[in-house]
Amino acid sequence: MKVLIADQINQKGIEELEEVAEVVARTDITPEELVKDIGDFDAIIVRSRTKVTREVIEAATNLKIIARAGVGVDNVDVEAATERGIMVVNAPESTSITVAEHTLGLILSLSRKISIADKSVKEDKWEKSRFMGMELNGKTMGIVGMGRIGSQVVIRAKAFGMDIIVYDPYITSEAASELGVEIVNLETLLENADVITIHVPLTPETKHLISKPQLEMMKENTLIVNCARGGIINEDDLYEALSEGIIGGAALDVFETEPPKGSSLTELDNVVLTPHIAASTSEAQRDAAIIVAKEIKKVFNGESPRNVINMPVMDPETFQLIKPYFRLAEKLGKFLIQTSKGNINELEVTYCGELAEIQKHDIITRILLQEILNPILTEPVNLVNAAAVAENRGVIITEGKRTDAKGYKNLISIEMKSEDNQVSVEGFLGKEPRIVMINGYQVNVKTEGTMVIASYKDIPGIIGSIGVKLGEYGINIAKMQVGRQQPGGEAVMVLKVDQKVSEEVEDAIKALPDVYDAVAVEL
Ligand code: NAD
Repeated sequence: MKVLIADQINQKGIEELEEVAEVVARTDITPEELVKDIGDFDAIIVRSRTKVTREVIEAATNLKIIARAGVGVDNVDVEAATERGIMVVNAPESTSITVAEHTLGLILSLSRKISIADKSVKEDKWEKSRFMGMELNGKTMGIVGMGRIGSQVVIRAKAFGMDIIVYDPYITSEAASELGVEIVNLETLLENADVITIHVPLTPETKHLISKPQLEMMKENTLIVNCARGGIINEDDLYEALSEGIIGGAALDVFETEPPKGSSLTELDNVVLTPHIAASTSEAQRDAAIIVAKEIKKVFNGESPRNVINMPVMDPETFQLIKPYFRLAEKLGKFLIQTSKGNINELEVTYCGELAEIQKHDIITRILLQEILNPILTEPVNLVNAAAVAENRGVIITEGKRTDAKGYKNLISIEMKSEDNQVSVEGFLGKEPRIVMINGYQVNVKTEGTMVIASYKDIPGIIGSIGVKLGEYGINIAKMQVGRQQPGGEAVMVLKVDQKVSEEVEDAIKALPDVYDAVAVEL
């Protein structure tokens, strides 16, 4: 086996590989040389310099694995690799400790005014009384997002004697109790934490998660740190809150635009800024090299690597049989993540009718998991890693088969239990995917556009009041279906609407008398 080291990586990674392969280091290889010479190699390791383009991948005749010794894979054409059945692996866990340490560094720099005091001494001043600090011991740390990095921050903050509260609607209660933290809602965290640190991915849900209203909920001495991604904190609102004394200080490693040229934040004393270096240590680089070297060894030994971020090619026959159901599974997954509340504990999937005959239906479960987990995680979840990611997060998955498909040719029947609710849904694939049951009520809806699902007491006037409320917000109802189990009991209404439905509208519907719940779903 031959491995090409195309970018400088830590020697420990090279030594690991030399046990099983011929390692060729060409860390100044040009793009042209790479296309010309890749043919021979079974594996390639890159960091950021080398681009593994489609042209490189198509020129490779032996390549089995592309390893990125780091977190992102922006410099690898993952689509081209997937098409050729080449695995792409990375080392997402390699930087967690490094980033957590930087986070603590920034917190201390803020709480003890270290960077500004340093500047003052270097300017030949001795302003002891100007730099009165705050002890961390006994203070409350609020962690937003307790994934790989957030968990490492928990351990370190505890060593400083801090009490920890966490906002992360997607972690299991086992994970929380293992680390001994209290899970709270965002509002409680903002109101009670002395130090707030952000460790969530940047998603539509977390974009500007911290803006003026959230900053105004904080205590006036609160310190906030962002080592996650720019855009999670609204920087204009942050500037206002810092300059008006609404909060105590802020430290940022990441910015809405990088570098943050001309940012007014640079004018403030109660701000510490670093140039996106939270992950930059030689130890993180060493660990990344060792992790990817071990992944390559596993592939050479015929074992499955952990961090594969793409899908290997399946045998074409199975693929053709299963592919049509991918769209149905995607839609059902999207439906489930938007209707679930709190962290996901269990997913039970039953494949019915002709689907029960298919051997490889676990791939459909993986598609479901991919859709359910991708909106909430930083790492890409895909067909290859979906089951492992779910397992690591403590989600119990059960798959079953049933020949009876309730009169349909095929049916996917799913129950998902989360911390705060349980959702059941059934989908059927005819000419197009359709949802035919929601929470025990028969419906028949196309899986596209926006729908509002409301549960309410089956008494006169409620359907009308929901329609009127939507009308007040300029939302037009295109189609409506209602289902109930018995007159006067709980009923469910599914409305297809022409406009997007905001949280404000959901809340207004929920506030109507005899309406139990309302949720908008975007398919
Ligand atoms: P992770 O996927 O392990 O953890 C993310 C956590 O956020 C998960 O537990 C998830 O449940 C939670 N989450 C998702 N959406 C949420 C929401 N709306 N509200 C609350 N919690 C939510 O990711 P990680 O490896 O810990 O990385 C965390 C962040 O750090 C990411 O944004 C990543 O890009 C960033 N990062 C920055 C650097 C740097 O150089 N500054 C380096 C590495 C990672």
